[in-house]
Amino acid sequence: MNEQMIKSFREAIEEKDRFVLTCHVNADGDALGATLALQHILKTMGKEVTVITPDLPPTYFSWMPGFKTIKVYERDIENCDAIIENASTLVVMDYNDIKRAKLLGEKLGSKEWEKTILIDHHTYPQVKADVEFSQPESPATCSTLYDILIAAGMGEKIDVEAATCIYTGILTDTGGLSYNSSNPDIYYTVADLLKRGIDKPTIHNNVFNNKTVRRLKMLGYALSRKLHRIEKYPLAIMTMSAEELERFGYNTGDTEGFVNYALQVKDIIATAFIMERPDGIKISLRSKGDFPVNEFSAQNFGGGGHVNAAGGTHKGTLEEAEKKYIENIVPFYLEWAKQK
Ligand code: 5GP
Ligand code: MN
Repeated sequence: MNEQMIKSFREAIEEKDRFVLTCHVNADGDALGATLALQHILKTMGKEVTVITPDLPPTYFSWMPGFKTIKVYERDIENCDAIIENASTLVVMDYNDIKRAKLLGEKLGSKEWEKTILIDHHTYPQVKADVEFSQPESPATCSTLYDILIAAGMGEKIDVEAATCIYTGILTDTGGLSYNSSNPDIYYTVADLLKRGIDKPTIHNNVFNNKTVRRLKMLGYALSRKLHRIEKYPLAIMTMSAEELERFGYNTGDTEGFVNYALQVKDIIATAFIMERPDGIKISLRSKGDFPVNEFSAQNFGGGGHVNAAGGTHKGTLEEAEKKYIENIVPFYLEWAKQK
């Protein structure tokens, strides 16, 4: 941790008093964990603080401490704009490209903030902040937040509620500590969070055993009908059209995790889940080993992310996106295989 940044962080937290905390669209456990943990800590310090998400976060995270306080920008623009106008300090968490916050990003980018803080673990930061913690090697924004708080001498502020949020982010961004979690430090963090009283079995149940029958049926359909291997190659694809999603009564976040299933096939090393949404086509990419889906996404779908988990978008039809994926992933794979 850069000492000067830690000092600036601590000063901002202590001196400023009106905060807005934000994360990316379709917030995941890490984005919500980080914003809600920091919100909780700032509130206990007597600060005015609001978490504003670009769109509605998945309701299966509604058990998280503080979830009900979240303001959703696209649902309440006027009220959120007033909060933003009144705030002095912006904390951008779990993303580093303002495009990832859609309309909210435009609003945040157009304001003169007294202080801006970035806490993130994605590569290629596009957001400039006064205080920047950009740590692509970190398993989760939540673990980076934990490290910052400890380094800033603010560890005593991590009570059980904040610890629950932080643990949730670590858990969801590492698939229950299965990937991006080989650095021993993360287990010291988890041990410390346990000492702070988190209820590990309940959090696991809330995170992993939270589905509805409807959602399991959607998954069953996707696996049996929509998952395809790209012939001859260790590559796969799954798609869902708007009509199919509708048929299963789609709610935000319902398809979370669908993209991972193809990687359970022994020799599949990269896969995509392509989904048709009202605002365009959303592409999720996953891989094993050092196959860089973030580079593939940047080259083909204007996106990014991590080596093994990335995403992007396509303006056009689902069929075009599918064709574009197949036509480009095969040569990308062949090129990658050649370098090995
Ligand atoms: P997911 O597939 O779960 O939506 O996203 C996987 C990873 O890729 C996440 O770390 C996310 O931040 C990143 N990601 C997803 N969509 C985009 C995108 O459109 N642009 C960029 N730069 N990153 C994305
Ligand atoms: Mn994250």
